[in-house]
Amino acid sequence: MSDKTDWHTRAAALRLDGRLLIDGQRVDSTSGETFAKHSPIDNRLLGPVARGRAEDIDAAVAAARRAFDGGRWRRQAPRERKRVLQRWAELLLENRDELALLETLDMGKPIAHARAVDVPSSANCLAWYGEAVDKLYDEIAPTPANALALVTREPMGVIAAIVPWNYPLLMAAWKLGPALAAGNSVVLKPSEKSPYSALRLAELALEAGLPAGVLNVVPGYGPEAGEALALHMDVDAIGFTGSTRTGRRMLAASAESNLKRVYNELGGKSAYLVFADADLERAARTAAGSVFYNQGESCNAPTRLLVHRSRVEECVAWVTDVARRHAPGHPLDETSTMGALVDEAQMRTVLGYVQAGQDEGATLACGGQRVRAETGGFYVEPTVFSAVDNGMRIAREEIFGPVLGVIAFDTEAEAIAIANDSPYGLQASVWTGQLDRAHRVSRALRAGTVHVNQYDDDDITVPFGGFKQSGNGRDKSLHAFDKYTELKTTWLRIGG
Ligand code: NAD
Repeated sequence: MSDKTDWHTRAAALRLDGRLLIDGQRVDSTSGETFAKHSPIDNRLLGPVARGRAEDIDAAVAAARRAFDGGRWRRQAPRERKRVLQRWAELLLENRDELALLETLDMGKPIAHARAVDVPSSANCLAWYGEAVDKLYDEIAPTPANALALVTREPMGVIAAIVPWNYPLLMAAWKLGPALAAGNSVVLKPSEKSPYSALRLAELALEAGLPAGVLNVVPGYGPEAGEALALHMDVDAIGFTGSTRTGRRMLAASAESNLKRVYNELGGKSAYLVFADADLERAARTAAGSVFYNQGESCNAPTRLLVHRSRVEECVAWVTDVARRHAPGHPLDETSTMGALVDEAQMRTVLGYVQAGQDEGATLACGGQRVRAETGGFYVEPTVFSAVDNGMRIAREEIFGPVLGVIAFDTEAEAIAIANDSPYGLQASVWTGQLDRAHRVSRALRAGTVHVNQYDDDDITVPFGGFKQSGNGRDKSLHAFDKYTELKTTWLRIGG
């Protein structure tokens, strides 16, 4: 049997465990209820997963609070916390194949990407924040000679980490790395569409020496487990990644409860500007590769491809060429570059947008069909629209699927105006041979990250997050500590 056909046997060998992890123990939900988690590969059942509800959230928050107040983690010497985080990162790499398989079975991405990107990037994130633990110094403010004013960073307390399904492990790591390094306790609520890798991640944390209760994981539905966590009176901050719609709900839940801090990492509709003097083939191939990566289920996918009118035809030819090379394949086939969309609902949403694009008058240049339907899984071809107007729904709304739209522009000012005419502002890219234009345009774009003549270069050292309705706060880099720490001033009078 080949790797791809015997996945049910491989999944069975993993002994998938969908129970909650609270206070260091794997437990059933209080109600005993579970929900059925199917794999998008072929819609077969992966297993029952505990359906966390308010009473489970209460238990998890109480465990996190006890762990925080007990201080076994936050009062540990920084070098000890660093050792645990680094051992945890090593364990991720030692269990790379298993974690990659969980990720692929759960949400359908190609196994080669899960193994080469998701698992090592998550490990690198934890190791990096572990390394940062004893490099963060407090401050002494300027004072009169008879005083000493210390400005210290203190952990906030109990953090709710609520994460999506598109990069389940990595999005969890982006929250857990800085939150735990800073000494907080965490309750992690993975998406109901991808619960398994988060549970395994937390087991590995215990194995690495994280004290019980410091990290708790409660899978469940958003309106049940997620809502209870967001409204909880004993949670100090929410680190949320997900849709803008749910991000609004996070802010409302904070206002309705204890004004907990809310840090939202939300959706995007990133603009990618290609000027007439750009290296067109490289620009077009990079854009298409980025949009189709992860089946288009990436918040920062550059789905609005703005091209100088003189070069639109060439550009469409290049991106459709890339699209045709990325036919969805079996996610466990090592050569697949695109896998399955996360579930049937997501597939229907994407196909609905393909229809909307045609209805609104865009030209379907390629793709747009469901494929591999005989498998029972949810696969959509890479899709390119040309003649897109920025007012169309496919240019304004986040599709979260492999759909790219080409928009023509005539002048630099028009390109900037179109790029900025979006409720989102996550990322952007500028392609030009002129340094002055690259500088001018990147300064004018309202986005958290602007790439110049590339799109995918990235590192844990730089912040990630958006302007406008793409969110607030930043993941990654030392700036992420701002989300999970409070500043305290201690003013000491010394002498008369
Ligand atoms: P989603 O908002 O539906 O769900 C995200 C999480 O919130 C899940 O765990 C879900 O169960 C939970 N949730 C849903 N409703 C809730 C509620 N009422 N109360 C509390 N929790 C609730 O988003 P999704 O479909 O899982 O993820 C896709 C979205 O995530 C896209 O919009 C994408 O752009 C965004 N995203 C953003 C970034 C970033 O860094 N900016 C990264 C990855 C994904």
